Amino acid sequence: MSELRKTPSLCPMCHQQGKSVDTATVKTLINISLHAIRDVPYFFCRTADCQVVYFSQDGQQTISKEQVRERVYQKEPNATDVMICYCFRHTPQSIQAEIETQGTSTVIEDINAGIHAGQCACDWRNPQGDCCLGNVHKFLKEIGYKTKSTH
Ligand SMILES: [Zn+2]
Repeated sequence: MSELRKTPSLCPMCHQQGKSVDTATVKTLINISLHAIRDVPYFFCRTADCQVVYFSQDGQQTISKEQVRERVYQKEPNATDVMICYCFRHTPQSIQAEIETQGTSTVIEDINAGIHAGQCACDWRNPQGDCCLGNVHKFLKEIGYKTKSTH
């Protein structure tokens, strides 16, 4: 299994390298019959303009945006109302609104607090199958927000 997961896997549609996801993530997030699930490794496609969200490593199966229950952050780079943090319900809009009204963002602290409290469920809620913090840090950087250094 671990050897298979290290094999590069390209999305059959956009031919970019996919990110390995747990089949449990795919099962949780698709809106089609789980009879479609096969005993093969699945990958997540991060390409914004590609319709494919998940594909099987053998390239024989693709699962499109319409077949996923959640809107996918990576697929809507310009949307402000798409979830960036699926566990604690943060969107680009909610983060920016906080910065505009409070002059600061507590989103990183909020997510970290949830993680430490054992409340997060990234494996089952985030279509990418793992923690959103990398995306949140990237987004804050993109909008020019400097994360305060902790003392
Ligand atoms: Zn793709």
